[in-house]
Amino acid sequence: MVSWTGFAKKSPQERRQALKNNQALSPASFEKLNKEELLPLETANQMTENLIGRLALPMSLAPDFLVNGQTYNLPMVTEEPSVVAAASYAAKLIKRSGGFTTEIHQRQMLGQVALTGCSDWQSAKEAILAGKADLIDLANQAHPSIVKRGGGARELTVEQKENFLIVYLAVDTQEAMGANMVNTMMEALVPKLEELSGGQSLMAILSNYATDSLVTAQCAVDLRFLSRNKEEAKKLAEKLEQASQLAQIDPYRASTHNKGIFNGIDALVLATGNDWRAIEAGGHTYAAASGSYRGLSQWTYDKEAGKVKGRLTLPMPIATKGGSIGLNPSVTVAFDLLGQPDAKTLAGLIVSLGLAQNFAALKALVGKGIQAGHMKLQAKSLALLAGATEREIPPLVQELLAAQHLNLETAQKILDDIRNNPNAKRT
Ligand code: NDP
Repeated sequence: MVSWTGFAKKSPQERRQALKNNQALSPASFEKLNKEELLPLETANQMTENLIGRLALPMSLAPDFLVNGQTYNLPMVTEEPSVVAAASYAAKLIKRSGGFTTEIHQRQMLGQVALTGCSDWQSAKEAILAGKADLIDLANQAHPSIVKRGGGARELTVEQKENFLIVYLAVDTQEAMGANMVNTMMEALVPKLEELSGGQSLMAILSNYATDSLVTAQCAVDLRFLSRNKEEAKKLAEKLEQASQLAQIDPYRASTHNKGIFNGIDALVLATGNDWRAIEAGGHTYAAASGSYRGLSQWTYDKEAGKVKGRLTLPMPIATKGGSIGLNPSVTVAFDLLGQPDAKTLAGLIVSLGLAQNFAALKALVGKGIQAGHMKLQAKSLALLAGATEREIPPLVQELLAAQHLNLETAQKILDDIRNNPNAKRT
């Protein structure tokens, strides 16, 4: 087992070595990281159009997440300071409180065909439902390989919404996200649906509102981790519950509340080469499912148990196969670090990370505020932007934090001063 004490203080090279020494990273992934093996240009050129280059982002590690009794180290790809530190901190407290539990409600993708111009909505709907078994067969014939893998079309429903008759198909896409396979199936259904309904298809496409792929993560944090002072801890627990309520009633707060959740979710979705636009779209639509946009998580203070209990549910149609997942060397390293999870396990890890990130943000917000932790990292970013070397960063950060204006101009002035007066005694 890796000792995480001092992990944050190591150099990237030392961190890789520690992971390898403790079998948390395979020798092949270790080599890839050491060689800075990024996405080859030729591969990138196959992935999109009009390619001119590649954009690198930092890949970090949030270690030691206890999820359903197993420990995982989560790779996170994000450029935002403090996100990884906050997730790691929350993971530590939640582990000591018993860890996360997850529930995968179901794992199916939905596709839809929208029909217009039916002369009789009711008889069109009945005709489609009467042909349901044949339509499901037709969808499966359009993508036989997923049926061979144990998946395929499972259920077909029809709803009339104003001037549209919408046919929904639920598909078990196994380890893939399934956008292309579902789109293929939906397009294959169009001629038969038009014939049965007497209408015309407006479009046939997957829906990112994956309500048949809901995943829940839960945790219960002991009050002692909110504050050593018992009375203070109780007050913070009450405030945490209120912060959760605020995100249920005020969309201005809900938006930022959910952004904090996606700080974690996006970072792991991106690290695993998944389509983060799809996950964002589904998550935000789910947040508005009641008709108002709400916070995706709920926190309650259980006074009897002496715990704050968190719960986060959202659609998580994540993939371990397909798309560009096998193509990017950094993504293969991410899967290695995760221990090659299947799609359901990965979905649970992602939602757990979102909940951890949310806990860290709320704890800071109702406690000493979010800026205390942020400013140090902001000062470090400014020091780097000003061109400070590794040795110059610590004194520059220290002086920047004490300065009146925390901006690039101040950072540059202090850096000039450090360089011009290297022997001066610094505050
Ligand atoms: P793919 O088209 O890559 O299909 C999945 C592939 O994975 C298939 O080739 C399948 O092989 C292979 N596979 C290997 N093992 C498994 C397994 N165990 N279970 C399932 N499949 C397996 O990807 P998707 O259909 O998942 O589509 C995802 C891509 O579509 C993403 O790049 C996404 O960005 C994009 N997209 C998203 C849209 C949206 O979100 N609205 C719309 C359009 C595209 P085989 O065929 O042999 O079974």
